[in-house]
Amino acid sequence: MSDVYLDYNATAPVRPQACEAAIAALSAVGNPSSVHGAGRAARAVIEDAREAVAALIGVPASTVIFTSGGTEANALAIESAVASGSRRLLIGATEHDCVTQTALASGAAVEVWPVDAQGLADLDWLAERLSNWDALDGRPFAALMLANNETGVIQPTAQAAEFLRAHNGWLHVDAVQAAGKMMVDGRGCGADSLALSAHKIGGPQGSGALTFGPRATLMRRLHGGGQERGRRAGTENLPGIAGFGAAALACALDIDQLAAQAAWREAAVAKIRAHAPIEVIGEAGLRLPNTLCLAMQGFAADLQVMSLDLAGIMVSTGSACSSGKVRPSPALSAMGLEHLASCAIRVSGGWATTQDDWNRFAQAWLEAFVRHQSRRPTTAA
Ligand code: PLP
Repeated sequence: MSDVYLDYNATAPVRPQACEAAIAALSAVGNPSSVHGAGRAARAVIEDAREAVAALIGVPASTVIFTSGGTEANALAIESAVASGSRRLLIGATEHDCVTQTALASGAAVEVWPVDAQGLADLDWLAERLSNWDALDGRPFAALMLANNETGVIQPTAQAAEFLRAHNGWLHVDAVQAAGKMMVDGRGCGADSLALSAHKIGGPQGSGALTFGPRATLMRRLHGGGQERGRRAGTENLPGIAGFGAAALACALDIDQLAAQAAWREAAVAKIRAHAPIEVIGEAGLRLPNTLCLAMQGFAADLQVMSLDLAGIMVSTGSACSSGKVRPSPALSAMGLEHLASCAIRVSGGWATTQDDWNRFAQAWLEAFVRHQSRRPTTAA
């Protein structure tokens, strides 16, 4: 039987269209900055990809800057805010490490914007914090992800943006996990800047984008040539960008299908729950349709992942970047669920996932659970 890959939030399999586009770009000659025919053809590949990525989130192509991935896109926004005078950054408590660590390294003061037990950012805290803003801290800047990589919880970015706008603030939205898994309205979600990553939507790794609105002041991050409208020097990653564009086009076509994953996920949860008292993190709120963060007290996450792997089912213990580290998941800790962090796994489907994949996951998990229970020492009555 073939393996089941349910770790799309770490990296989605590359879509055939993206693979074809990347290979075609690799096979072609030409620097996009050259004025001859080959150069112009390479430039056209980039601009077509820019249109496709922009269309996926409904923003003008002229506002899309290609980067080396989601990490760099987030860094470009945060470092630009600091360079343009923000001296205090409000960072969502469940943000990806690349956001939190870039903020901490930026030299600005960093405040953690708390979340509730469902992982939702506390808007009252934001309102209160902004109403007491010290002018010496410069322009308010806040980062709030659209959807969480570990739990799939969707944040109220549009409401947060209203508060920030009332104080001339800048809201940066990390939409790396949301894009391609839910409809993302690049401006409607309230973002003044928004980060995307190709490999989370079925494009190649090492390609991403930042889109920005009129209220974001972007700096030049890499110096040299005038690529990406002077914001990011260096010859563009043509195959990566071509693959990103093709993946964005394909995403736009199957985004409705992806919604079906929620029903498949819920069926898997119901099957497991009939035999095991699992907890589903963030279950009460809005979540991405593809993501399940499941915790079972007494059944260690790495044991769950290894048992599933032996059965040919690939899932992870948290975000790819934090797995392997001993520290508990910062996202679950921020939700007050530290006690579940060591026994929580993340299961995430995507464009090639079938209902049978979710079924096989549920079956394999239950078998692993029963084996685990049978090995546990029984306490004498
Ligand atoms: N933001 C979120 C929410 C992520 O999940 C990730 C990757 O896991 C990133 C940013 C980083 O993206 P990239 O791997 O393209 O640098």
